[in-house]
Amino acid sequence: MAEITPRSQDFSRWYLDVVRRAELADYSPVKGCMVIRPYGYAIWELLQQALDSRIKATGHVNAYFPLFIPNSLLTKEAEHVEGFSPQVAYVTHAGGEELEEKLVVRPTSEAIIGTMYANWVQSWRDLPILINQWANVVRWEKKTYPFLRTTEFLWQEGHTAHETEQEAEDETLKILDLYADVCESVLAMPVVKGKKTESEKFAGALRTYSIEALMGDGRALQAGTSHNLGQNFAKAFEIKFQARDKSVQYVWGTSWGVTTRLVGGMIMVHGDDGGLVLPPNIAPYQVVIVPIGRDNWRETVLPKAQEIQAQLRAAGLRVTLDERDERPGWKFAEWELRGVPLRLEIGPKDIEKSAVLVARRDSREKQSLPMDGLADRLRDLLADVQKSLLSRAKQFRDEHTQRTTSYDEFKQIMEGRPGFVIAPWCGHAECEAHIKGETQATIRNMPLGSSNPGGTCVRCDAPAVAEAWFAKAY
Ligand SMILES: [Zn+2]
Repeated sequence: MAEITPRSQDFSRWYLDVVRRAELADYSPVKGCMVIRPYGYAIWELLQQALDSRIKATGHVNAYFPLFIPNSLLTKEAEHVEGFSPQVAYVTHAGGEELEEKLVVRPTSEAIIGTMYANWVQSWRDLPILINQWANVVRWEKKTYPFLRTTEFLWQEGHTAHETEQEAEDETLKILDLYADVCESVLAMPVVKGKKTESEKFAGALRTYSIEALMGDGRALQAGTSHNLGQNFAKAFEIKFQARDKSVQYVWGTSWGVTTRLVGGMIMVHGDDGGLVLPPNIAPYQVVIVPIGRDNWRETVLPKAQEIQAQLRAAGLRVTLDERDERPGWKFAEWELRGVPLRLEIGPKDIEKSAVLVARRDSREKQSLPMDGLADRLRDLLADVQKSLLSRAKQFRDEHTQRTTSYDEFKQIMEGRPGFVIAPWCGHAECEAHIKGETQATIRNMPLGSSNPGGTCVRCDAPAVAEAWFAKAY
């Protein structure tokens, strides 16, 4: 197998090597679009299930809206169209003729869903509407990167409509918590929840909240967003209802989404020079069994290996058995590259002792475990791997998060060892743009619950209004 570029040598190269060599995704004949291969798609499906069950448990239902949006609908909300127009792909011809009105390939679905909601909502009794959709969207990107930024990507987008501003705000924050929970408990990826600045918010939203994670190279990744749309889209799309006091009012909207980008984030948080390191909760295979033995291993070892596989599967673990005619060492490297959390080695001696050798992918520790009660022991080990990955990622983030009130120091940090920098900020977009121009660092968010640090802005003399988390970002 070809080598993977070491992380320390070239992080970006390392990432691309891992994505291709672990067979997560491949480039496609369409520039900027990727093919998600079965192993990568299995990860996405597990993530989808984790999100979908939580989305439904909080009272939402799934629906599906069309891929094409009439151009006139997209242009109804002025800020929205301005924000998205550089990235929009249009269909101008179909059925052998030029269309009377060109169609937009959805970059997001506020316009089409808002149009439908206007028909569906008449009275306060019709509210709230809590709908989610699983879909693909297209945003024409100049520079693409597998999973993190692709022209077409998969996501879920929630679109809700409420009677009051407070309800919409509660919904926006409830989903932010849901996203943070999935990132931490499933992907073992710690995130910072906070509010975006005006210049970084979603086009057309009142407020945008995000979760931000730190990747292994010290760059931040926006891992999900939740928007309080206020009444902006309701006014643009005429989503009105008769309120309890008989007055006619506009609904309060939210929208929120996470994408296949989360898969890329998970790779960058946990992977090492051996390849992928998958948290057990997202691993398509939590355990791989590799039979060890001489030429006759198919007779001596395989039956026992198959029996163990069946037992573990019956116990609810995701298990695969590598029966290929390759050397065990070759198989070890391959499953290490694919990030399987636990590897079970079974040879004739293990069978004699009624034991198996278990190797952890995260720490590379090995131990012998008795076959008796194996499923329970493995379940405990998997839980421990999951926990260790989260605490390791938290430790890395904490070690790469610094506070400063000095702009000189701020610039030094951004030039040297990157990560999050927490600094007081004046709230002015020009100042934010200036910092970005000089250091490439942007305000990732202003964490929920953080208070005004007082004093002056890290860059200018204006009084600080918020504590901002800065980083260079993907
Ligand atoms: Zn300032």
